[in-house]
Amino acid sequence: MSPKRVFNFNPGPAALPLEVLQQAQAEMLDYKGTGMSVMEISHRSKEFEAIVADAQNDLRDLLKIPANYKILFLQGGASLQFAMIPMNFRPAGASADYIVTGTWSKKAFKESQKLGTSKAAASIEADNFNHLPAQSDLKLDPQAAYLHFTSNETIHGVEYFTEPVPPTGVPLICDASSDFVSRPIDVSKYSMLYAGAQKNAGPAGVVICIIREDLLAKVPANLPNLLDYKTLAEENSLLNTPPCWSVYIVSLVLKWAKGLGGLSAIEKRNQAKADLVYNAIDQSGGFYKGHAKSDRSRMNITFRLPSEALEDQFAGEAKKNDLIGLKGHRSVGGMRASLYNAVPVEASETLVKFMMEFQQKNG
Ligand SMILES: *Cc1c(COP(=O)(O)O)cnc(C)c1O
Repeated sequence: MSPKRVFNFNPGPAALPLEVLQQAQAEMLDYKGTGMSVMEISHRSKEFEAIVADAQNDLRDLLKIPANYKILFLQGGASLQFAMIPMNFRPAGASADYIVTGTWSKKAFKESQKLGTSKAAASIEADNFNHLPAQSDLKLDPQAAYLHFTSNETIHGVEYFTEPVPPTGVPLICDASSDFVSRPIDVSKYSMLYAGAQKNAGPAGVVICIIREDLLAKVPANLPNLLDYKTLAEENSLLNTPPCWSVYIVSLVLKWAKGLGGLSAIEKRNQAKADLVYNAIDQSGGFYKGHAKSDRSRMNITFRLPSEALEDQFAGEAKKNDLIGLKGHRSVGGMRASLYNAVPVEASETLVKFMMEFQQKNG
């Protein structure tokens, strides 16, 4: 009997490709003739070194990462980067700029302020983060240590499809946790990109950091090793025991993504999935109302129903139909459909059918 699988719209940890789970299952007891699982082999073994190298090479291929960027697999999630970035890249006395577009960029901003000076280049909080600021609305400090932004706000559902432009010489740093490898980007515009894997690239437990080498020269000498990007890069993420299993699953997800035809093909597929749901919202005559007024995310679609009672009913009935994880974050309310890479087109189609039927019965 084949196992039960649901349509998984969880925001993170989130859906993984079935093929990846099946491969992990098949390799679980005997990884490549070792007679051990990846959880049981040494992180210094040639098998694990190959897993790291494969994941790095596949990322380089997929994102066309130039040779002068390091790729690190670290722990502590995206949230620890919120602290590590100012510790490593904002010298004493300097200030950094943050574009505050939702819960996650606000957290990054607040964390950086615990350790020194940061300024909000813009904040959309007064509008409950329902759009992004225009480039011309950014108050940018030409002396800033860096400009930080969040490419996709997972909770509010707004996404940058073209990067904000920092002043000349100011490094651009991006939290790409929830739209990483969902579409092609020009990595050369970034000094650093980071992403917790558990949204679009794998399981929880590992965060992927892509850092341009010249930035590493700015790292102060007095940081603890595990908080020091330069040391971590020199040790190729093997300074201490890495999250071996998580890195292994990331490596399988990246191979799977390449098998789909790379990021242009993945972007088309993601666009199609998002269009289906946004069309259903737009054509509902106001029954469904999107939270984002513009800059609508392809990854996390946030929408409301006419009442909270109807929203609870929607979530409950959806669950009975094996449509899981649709309840929105309490700070936005309503519903959120997360349509990450591993969510199949069929999931969007099934959700849209459910939305139309629900409206017919309750509208
Ligand atoms: C989930 C998320 C985070 C937090 O990730 P952790 O790995 O839990 O620390 C940060 N930024 C964004 C955009 C996210 O979606």
